[in-house]
Amino acid sequence: MNSALIVDCIAAVRQALLASESDIESLDRAIGDGDHFINVKRGCDVLLALSPELLPLTPDAACRQIGMKLMSTIGGASGPLLASFFLALGKSIAGAATVDAESFARAFAAGVEAIAQRGKAGLGEKTMLDVLIPVAVLLQRLTREHVALESLCRQVKAEAERGMLVTRDMIATKGRAHFLGERAIGHIDPGSKTCQVAIHAVCDLLTSR
Ligand code: ADP
Ligand code: MG
Repeated sequence: MNSALIVDCIAAVRQALLASESDIESLDRAIGDGDHFINVKRGCDVLLALSPELLPLTPDAACRQIGMKLMSTIGGASGPLLASFFLALGKSIAGAATVDAESFARAFAAGVEAIAQRGKAGLGEKTMLDVLIPVAVLLQRLTREHVALESLCRQVKAEAERGMLVTRDMIATKGRAHFLGERAIGHIDPGSKTCQVAIHAVCDLLTSR
C-alpha cells in the first residue's frame, strides 16, 4: 500500500458512490433526514481535490490528512465517525516502511474500533458498523491465512453485502433511525449501504490491477 493506491481508491470509491446516489438518498430519506448522500459526496469531493497533496505523503500521513479533512468538511453523524476511522488507521500504520496485507487488516480493525468508540455503538444497532465489524474480523482472518487477493476480495465483498442486508430487519438503537422504532424495519441503514459500496469499489480496484 502506498499513497498512489490511496488516491486511486478515493477516485474509485467516489465513482461508485456517485453511481449509487439514488439508492443511498432514498434510504436516508426513509429512515434518516435525507442528508447522508450529500454528506458523503462532499467528503468524496474534498478528498478528490486533496489527492495531489496526498501523493507525496507516506500512507500513514495521507490517512491522517484524510481524517482531518473529513472531520472539518463532512457534517452529520457520519462525518466525525468516518474521520475517526482514517485517523486511527493512520495511527496504526505510523512508522511502517511498507504496509502489508496483515498490517492493513489490523489498521482497518483499529479504524472500525475508533468508529465504535466514538459512536458508542456495536454490532446489531443498524449502523455502518454492521458492515464494518464483520468485514474487519474477516479481513484479519483471511490475511492471517494468506488467502490470495482474488479470493480475499470475493469473500470480503460478500461479507459487506451480507452485513448491509441484515440491517434491513433491525430496529435502530443508534443514530436518527432509532426515533422510528419498529418503523425502521424493512429499510437498509444508509451508512451501511455507503460502506458496502465503498468496500466493493476498493475490492474491484484491487482485483482489476
Ligand atoms: P445524520 O444521522 O446526523 O443525518 P448521516 O445521515 O450523514 O448523519 O449518517 C447517518 C449514518 O451514520 C447512519 O446510517 C449510520 O450508519 C451512521 N451512524 C449514525 N449514528 C451512529 C453511531 N452512533 N455509530 C455508528 N454509526 C452511526
Ligand atoms: Mg442523515
